[in-house]
Parts: sequence; C-alpha cells; structure tokens
Amino acid sequence: MIQVKDLKKYYNRGAIKALDGVTVDIDRGDVMVVIGPSGSGKSTFLRSLNLLEEPTGGSIIFNGVDITKKKIKNAEGKTVKVDIDQHRQKMGMVFQHFNLFPHMTIMDNMTLAPIQVKHMDRGEAEKKALALLDRVGLQDRARAYPIQLSGGQKQRIAIVRALMMEPEVMLFDEPTSALDPEMVGEVLEVMKELAQEGMTMVVVTHEMGFAREVGSRVLFMADGKLLEEGSPADIFGNPQHPRLQDFLSKVL
Ligand code: ATP
Ligand code: MG
Repeated sequence: MIQVKDLKKYYNRGAIKALDGVTVDIDRGDVMVVIGPSGSGKSTFLRSLNLLEEPTGGSIIFNGVDITKKKIKNAEGKTVKVDIDQHRQKMGMVFQHFNLFPHMTIMDNMTLAPIQVKHMDRGEAEKKALALLDRVGLQDRARAYPIQLSGGQKQRIAIVRALMMEPEVMLFDEPTSALDPEMVGEVLEVMKELAQEGMTMVVVTHEMGFAREVGSRVLFMADGKLLEEGSPADIFGNPQHPRLQDFLSKVL
C-alpha cells in the first residue's frame, strides 16, 4: 500500500539527518508500531508519509503513485500533476496535542473537513459524526467545546474526526504521551478496536504493551535510520541490534 524507499530528510543543509535513508513497505491492514529514542526521526518519518515534511530524497509510493513527485506520467503516458491533497485525504493523522479547533464545537470540528473538502451535505456529515461519537461513547458531547473535555476525550474525538474522511491509513504520533495516566487506556482501546477492524495504522508510541499486543510489525529507529524491523515477538523477545537491546533495557 505504501512503499517507502531510501527516504531522507535533512535539516540545516545536511548537518541534521532526521531521516537518513529509510526503506520500508506498509501493507494494507498492517499495524506498524515505530519505536526509538528521542530525536531518532520517528515524527519526521510520520510527517513525511503525508508530506507535512517535504523529503530531501527518496520516494513514497502510495497506492502505486509516487507522491514525492510533483508530476508523473499517467497510464496513457501523459504528464499530469500529482494531487497531494487527494492523497493526504486518504491519510488520517492524530498528534500528541489533539489539534482540535478550540473555537468550534466538537460537531463543527468533525464536520468541517468533510463538508469543505469532500463537499458532504451537512445533514449527512452530522449523522456520520454522531455515529462515530457514539462509537467512542461521546455522542452527548457533540455541542461541547474542546476546552470542556478531558484530554482522553479530546484524543478520542481527534481519532474519530480523522475517521470522518474515511482514510485508508491512520498515522498516530504519540497519541497518549500528553495524557494523564488514567486516560491512556481509553485512547489505546479505541486504537485497538480500529486495528481489529482492519485499519492500516502507523503508530509512534512509547506504549510497549500496545506495541506487543496490537502491533503487527515493529520498527526500531535510531539516528534517522531503521535499525531493526520485525514482529513484536522478535523485537521484544529476540532483539538483535545492540542499540535496540539498550533501548529496550531502558524502557521495559
Ligand atoms: P521524539 O521521541 O522526541 O518525539 P523523534 O524520534 O520524533 O523524537 P524527530 O522529531 O523526528 O524525532 O527529530 C529527528 C531529528 O531531526 C532531531 O535531531 C530533531 O532535532 C531534528 N529536527 C526535527 N525537526 C526539525 C526542524 N524543523 N529543523 C531542524 N531540525 C529538526
Ligand atoms: Mg516525535
């Protein structure tokens, strides 16, 4: 579904190699968990996948189209522009800090993009939003503002807001690390349900329990490189790279 080839992202004219040649395939239905020390390039990797960061080099093939190219040849051999917004719509993203619009109700937060970008009818969008809110137990909060909700509630809203666009893949960047400990579980539970429904997910997290239990594959990054990749059983039970062994000895 997504083929990442030799992806590079440099800052300060190459002085900082945030991503230094990452190659990985993400298949439909994968729950790819990305782990690694601070500064290893996890967020840069995730942000590059939907081109919030413009890569310095390499390519990202999403459903057969290289989305790092501004123009490609289509099936008839004609040069056409790559519509990055169209691709971005297929990737939902959830950040550490919720990123809900504070001046809008939950309902408006959820229906804004579907109405404006997908030209969904308002009634239809609101119906869909209520169904999704119901799924995360927050249907009664539709008219509330983000400030009136707990961190865990806001993050559950951020997840279903992304689902409003019917993405093919969901990207999560440390969705629980800004939460009070008692709210972590409710957010991980929503993510676990999504995974069980077959959603393709890339999840940067420090929640090793989630990685083990829900992850289909685990990537270990350090210094902008993908140092080890494997099943949760391999990564946690039989780590090979000394950097991974060291990392696990600190976090487990
Ligand atoms: P953390 O676990 O702390 O979130 P991370 O693995 O997500 O870390 P990144 O945020 O991807 O790491 O950063 C990778 C490297 O790139 C770091 O050295 C960081 O300082 C650097 N970096 C990230 N964004 C920028 C930027 N806009 N300008 C310069 N350097 C940057
Ligand atoms: Mg990060």
